[in-house]
Amino acid sequence: MRAELEKIVGSAAVDERAVRDLWPLGIMDERAGKPSTPVLVARPTGREQVAAILVWAGANGVSVTPMGGGSGVCGALSPEAGDLVLDMSAFDRILEVDEANLTCKCESGVNGLRLEEHLNERGLTLGHFPTSLPGTTLGGLIATRSSGQESSRYGSIEDMVLGLAVVLPDGTFAAPRPGPRSAVGPALHQLWLGSEGALGVVTGAVLRVHRLPESVIGGGYGFPDLATGLESMRAIMQSGIRPLVMRLYDPEDTAFNGYDLPDGGCLLVVANAGLSGVARAEADAVKSFAAAAAAADLGEDPWLRWQKHRFDLSADRLKTFLAPPGAYLDTIELAAPWTVLHDLHARVKPAIAVGGLALCHFSHAYEQGCCAYFTFGGSGDTEPDARSAYIRAWEGAMSIALELGATISHHHGVGRARVRWVADEMGGWMRVWRSIKESVDPKGVMNPRAVGGGKP
Ligand SMILES: Cc1cc2nc3c(=O)[nH]c(=O)nc-3n(C[C@H](O)[C@H](O)[C@H](O)COP(=O)(O)OP(=O)(O)OC[C@H]3O[C@@H](n4cnc5c(N)ncnc54)[C@H](O)[C@@H]3O)c2cc1C
Repeated sequence: MRAELEKIVGSAAVDERAVRDLWPLGIMDERAGKPSTPVLVARPTGREQVAAILVWAGANGVSVTPMGGGSGVCGALSPEAGDLVLDMSAFDRILEVDEANLTCKCESGVNGLRLEEHLNERGLTLGHFPTSLPGTTLGGLIATRSSGQESSRYGSIEDMVLGLAVVLPDGTFAAPRPGPRSAVGPALHQLWLGSEGALGVVTGAVLRVHRLPESVIGGGYGFPDLATGLESMRAIMQSGIRPLVMRLYDPEDTAFNGYDLPDGGCLLVVANAGLSGVARAEADAVKSFAAAAAAADLGEDPWLRWQKHRFDLSADRLKTFLAPPGAYLDTIELAAPWTVLHDLHARVKPAIAVGGLALCHFSHAYEQGCCAYFTFGGSGDTEPDARSAYIRAWEGAMSIALELGATISHHHGVGRARVRWVADEMGGWMRVWRSIKESVDPKGVMNPRAVGGGKP
């Protein structure tokens, strides 16, 4: 197998190593003595090489998983013995920034932070800020259907992708189609957003970018309780305001962030952006909504503190936290309509509080609802204790979400973490998904661990 690959990409571009993403249960398993098996990793340098590898893999029954930054948290990137990993890091060119039409064309291995900085130097932004931005690639962000801290203003990755360049499993090239929008059939490229590498390899994208706002006005408010805070978030979104950032922390998460509010109090961090007059007017309107809910004005400090720490939860910190025997920590990002969120919070919190740490904040707001982002953690006396507490928390959160009609994932995806529940959420759409997978990838070349394809 190695010799065949070396013929395609050259011997310097093939190596053998263990590969995994940052799925906490995978890290815990490794700590408990179950290391990942080393696999062959090929680093193609052009789409012709990608196509040749996929065709070769199809003829030889080898599974191929594309790899971006490895920052996924669901085990979608967790190859097994005999699999092949495609390291996309050589696809790292930002090909064009079109400042007149506000588009950017780049390859899929481009680092998320590097792309944003490149745009910022030209007075532009993609507006996509997952907390993991420094460790991501564009291809991974696309394949996981990710969402960033400024999604209430700029949308999530599906709102940013105008077109995709993809190599299909049989080696066919599919190029970005003309924009800014087309009615020539369905927007088929959208199927690759959230596909977790199941349908082929994304080699590039045409992205919608924005001019950096002239002014950003941020602040914080202390709400008397969670229900009042959620009602204000809903009112703000439904008034037509699109905050740059809007995050409401439940009482435990508020205290965890170092705020000493009266009992049950909840911190809202909010920022408005745009032309100076527009940002000012929107910030004043937000202030009025907060005042009407008897929220305390905490001034600019919460916004400044949040900005300073917005990328603090790094891969290294996650690994450090999970290093001691028996430690467990994870996040579960659900989303639901406004009328369901309070109930969802009230029921999921005790279900995940298996080990002491149970926090929640609400961000990624829409007119119709919001994401509820839960964090839980603790420490078991033994590795099996830790594993079973961790799994209990996930089972609780997933079953409550399904029961209440919430989505089981707002932006992390499926991978191995949610494989048990994906068909419950998808229902009849699972048949559509399976048909698409079978017809685009009849030989089953692409990532067998993607979107319900794998075992937990
Ligand atoms: C501390 C921390 C914070 C995080 N915060 C956020 C957040 O705020 N918002 C958010 O959305 N996510 C967040 N994540 C999750 C993670 O960063 C995302 O899932 C990210 O989108 C994955 O990008 P990647 O390049 O690292 O992909 P990888 O982890 O390498 O791969 C992810 C999946 O995409 C597939 N893939 C990768 N490249 C390609 C390609 N070129 N073609 C086809 N398939 C491909 C892989 O096969 C795999 O299935 C966080 C993760 C961590 C560790």
